[in-house]
Amino acid sequence: MRRSAFALALFLLSPVFSFAGGPAAAVIPQPVAEQAELLREGALRDNLSVALVESITTEVGPRRIGTAGDERARAWALDKFIELGFDRAWSEEFTVPHGWIRGEASAAIVAPYPQRLVVTALGYSVGTGGDLVGDVVEFATFDDLLAVPEGNSLKGKIAFVSFSMADYVPPPGGSPMAGYGQGTRARGRGHVVAAKRGAEAIVIRSVGTDNNRLAHTGSGYGYQDGVRKIPAAALSAPDAILLQNMLKRGKPVTLKLNLTSEITGPVTTANVIGEITGREGSDKYLVLGAHLDSWDEGTGAIDDGAGVGSMMAAAAIIGRLKKRPRRSIRVLLFGGEEIGLTGVRAYAEQHADDMPAQLLGAEVDSGGGRVNTLVSGVGEQSVPAVRAMYELIAPLGIEWSDANDAKGDSDMSVLGGAGMPALSFEQNSNNYFHYHHTPNDTFDKIIPEDMRYLTAAYATMFYLAAELDIDFRQ
Ligand code: ZN
Ligand code: ZN
Repeated sequence: MRRSAFALALFLLSPVFSFAGGPAAAVIPQPVAEQAELLREGALRDNLSVALVESITTEVGPRRIGTAGDERARAWALDKFIELGFDRAWSEEFTVPHGWIRGEASAAIVAPYPQRLVVTALGYSVGTGGDLVGDVVEFATFDDLLAVPEGNSLKGKIAFVSFSMADYVPPPGGSPMAGYGQGTRARGRGHVVAAKRGAEAIVIRSVGTDNNRLAHTGSGYGYQDGVRKIPAAALSAPDAILLQNMLKRGKPVTLKLNLTSEITGPVTTANVIGEITGREGSDKYLVLGAHLDSWDEGTGAIDDGAGVGSMMAAAAIIGRLKKRPRRSIRVLLFGGEEIGLTGVRAYAEQHADDMPAQLLGAEVDSGGGRVNTLVSGVGEQSVPAVRAMYELIAPLGIEWSDANDAKGDSDMSVLGGAGMPALSFEQNSNNYFHYHHTPNDTFDKIIPEDMRYLTAAYATMFYLAAELDIDFRQ
């Protein structure tokens, strides 16, 4: 940890602010700690983050990359940054090789017991070119599908991966996200793996934790060169269970799938960035991330309107202070997260030279729930400073983790992987995986008080990080 002469002088001259036994007193000058407490309490009364989610879901709505909604979202973000008092706002364009038209999706069991099923196309799936009919072969897990030797054994068949995220029990000590990680393997690569075994199409049980009769979309992250492009779709959980029950009867089950999806040519979009300029200029800054794009089934409230609203609001609240903090704070609203972190990858390339300028980063992409645990991902020497900063958000009901292994969540994982110090604010899920990527991802799922707690945690920590002269890499 490094302290500037100014901070050191303040530290020596001021009576040390006393927290309830916490180590903050050892690091944080009293006026800074007092300012942080005022900021935290003010943020708890400030509904800005909620208002921003309401605004983007109402005025923009779905904003999948390459759509008119994507364009409107970028204009919305630029306008909002300025309206909220950010000093600068700009876009940084990037191009992805393909766009996608969702089209219509329908599915039905033809035999032995004809019934309609609720289905959605997985992102960037090809269409079926009319009705595609085949007998269903079930695989309990993606590994079971992988275990089939490559070749033609699934010719004429529709592969069905019935893995349930809701029923998955992680191994002892496993992450609560493990079930999502397992589910997204088939969602991300199932169409390539099934095609290599001769299948005509793949359907998966939606990757989610709900039992609503709504299907969760998500990205297939593209096809593999030289491998036949087969359609990919997700069934709602109740329909996946229905299909399993039919298969249990031992008779062939024939499924009809019809997707009118279409892959198109290159699409140009942008990351949108807003800056609260620190009193020592723009050359070193902290980054608060969220993704601006969303899937197109709902209005992108929890994924990731909540991230956009909380990050913009946290920085705006810091920007309203009479005295600007030392360092700048940039809010990075990434495009193309949903199709494989494409926006942040472009950003990392465009900013390869100024990576060292990025002092610390964090991202909200887990909905609007309260933070329950803070995990640092900083150099060993600065852990005590982060711990001291943490004492000022502990009153929000946040635990401290000693792991110090945060690498940045969602988009930020790319910057964390490139060496940027990161904080992970682990959140209560508020049933995030019941809703995300479905038509149910709408504004009513936001719990306003939780959003204010979430925003207060970020505003407080990032005010402190911007004010204190700490080298988080050390
Ligand atoms: Zn997301
Ligand atoms: Zn998502």
